[in-house]
Amino acid sequence: MKCNADAIIFQKYSGMHLCRKHFIEDVERKVKLTIRKHFNIGKNETLAVALSGGKDSCVVLYVLHKIFHERRDLNIVAISVDEGIKGYREHSLEYAKELASTLGIKHIIRSFEDEYGTTLDGLTAKNRVLGACSYCGVLRKSILNKVALEIGANRLITGHNLDDEAQTILMNHLSGDVDRMVRLDPPREIEGMVLRAKPLRKIPEKEVALYALVNDIPVDLEVCPYAHEALRGEVRDMLNGFESRHPGTKYSLLRGFDKMVKLLAADFPPATISKCRVCGQACNAEVCQACRLLEKI
Ligand SMILES: [Zn+2]
Ligand SMILES: [Zn+2]
Repeated sequence: MKCNADAIIFQKYSGMHLCRKHFIEDVERKVKLTIRKHFNIGKNETLAVALSGGKDSCVVLYVLHKIFHERRDLNIVAISVDEGIKGYREHSLEYAKELASTLGIKHIIRSFEDEYGTTLDGLTAKNRVLGACSYCGVLRKSILNKVALEIGANRLITGHNLDDEAQTILMNHLSGDVDRMVRLDPPREIEGMVLRAKPLRKIPEKEVALYALVNDIPVDLEVCPYAHEALRGEVRDMLNGFESRHPGTKYSLLRGFDKMVKLLAADFPPATISKCRVCGQACNAEVCQACRLLEKI
């Protein structure tokens, strides 16, 4: 719709057919808009990018590098966490290494083994009551925050896309978890916690995959063997159904959330933050969630 080249995508929600060039432009325009609207990147900042090797994290690293590689004052560092998932993580880490080295970006890899003396496989074998995802999410975030603090990062950037965001928002609605919704918004500055940012939150998952494909970005397309969050799966199917019958639903959810969360924030003051008695990381209890999980073993 913008030139005479063949279209590679039809965006139902915008009614636009776009060629390769204009599709890439569209994605990057949305990323820049998100950055401008939700977080400013100041002078001499360090951006830590969580890099799993999957399509979302690879694309976010690639786009940030493309947008900012001329800003000599900015320092982009990729961080990967090796949870110790046999038959899966080894491969995705190779993709992460390859991309970081191609882009000339410093890459830090930290493992559960180094930090906690055991792997995710080891943890779940010992305790079957809690699913692997509950360990993985908490422990991975804890390592990412720790490494981001160590390197003096101003932001911790993740590859969450529009589908991830819309699913999480709807899941919080369904469970009535308003407190969690407030925490999902780009949070206020808290000492000991590096601020998060999600530049891909306005890019649909399919477009993230297409962007990786048309830019020849090496990404691991395998799915984590532990990935089966039941409620999220149901919500994903439901949202995809709505999106195809009512294009733009995912954007509407995000837009509504962004408006609402500002109003809610006034009623939900930030939790008082202290230091974990065990590991010293910032948390809102005496012992942080990661340490509590590890003590359960
Ligand atoms: Zn075009
Ligand atoms: Zn702790």
